[in-house]
Amino acid sequence: MQQNIPDSKTIKACCCIVGGGPAGIVLGFLLARAAVETIVLEKHADFLRDFRGDTIHPSTLEIMYELGILDKFLQRPHQELHQLGAQIDDFAVTIADFSHLPTHCKFVALMPQWDFSKLRCGTRKALPTISFAHGV
Ligand SMILES: Cc1cc2nc3c(=O)[nH]c(=O)nc-3n(C[C@H](O)[C@H](O)[C@H](O)COP(=O)(O)OP(=O)(O)OC[C@H]3O[C@@H](n4cnc5c(N)ncnc54)[C@H](O)[C@@H]3O)c2cc1C
Repeated sequence: MQQNIPDSKTIKACCCIVGGGPAGIVLGFLLARAAVETIVLEKHADFLRDFRGDTIHPSTLEIMYELGILDKFLQRPHQELHQLGAQIDDFAVTIADFSHLPTHCKFVALMPQWDFSKLRCGTRKALPTISFAHGV
């Protein structure tokens, strides 16, 4: 199998995933972790797109905990939203309070999606059976 060679014409793998969005990259991660030779094909050349939000919700963070990549995620620059509130004249109201959630992270994380996607692709170093081909 030829890996990580962007100008290569022939790539062989046991499993080919078309689309390097969150679903494709996480599936590639899970297969590679099970030692399945996997290639993820993404038609865009990079992750520098800003058409989605940048919020990573507690349920998503919990899945990252279960996958064992939460610590790496939290090491990257991010902001944490623990509560949402509003002030109307003298009246303060809490709109959302994440402190009671039964998850490890009781907050919504804010991180640019290209940083988040790069983190998910960064698993390639730890998992030699996965390759990413961008701009195909
Ligand atoms: C405006 C907006 C804001 C959002 N904000 C948030 C948010 O803040 N937090 C959150 O958790 N979710 C958010 N979402 C939802 C989130 O973006 C989606 O749930 C998620 O992107 C779905 O992932 P996916 O991998 O299924 O699909 P996609 O993200 O659509 O990934 C599919 C990938 O396949 C690639 N592709 C398609 N066809 C081909 C092809 N023929 N060959 C190669 N590659 C191909 C595409 O380029 C794309 O990268 C938002 C969505 C939108 C639209």
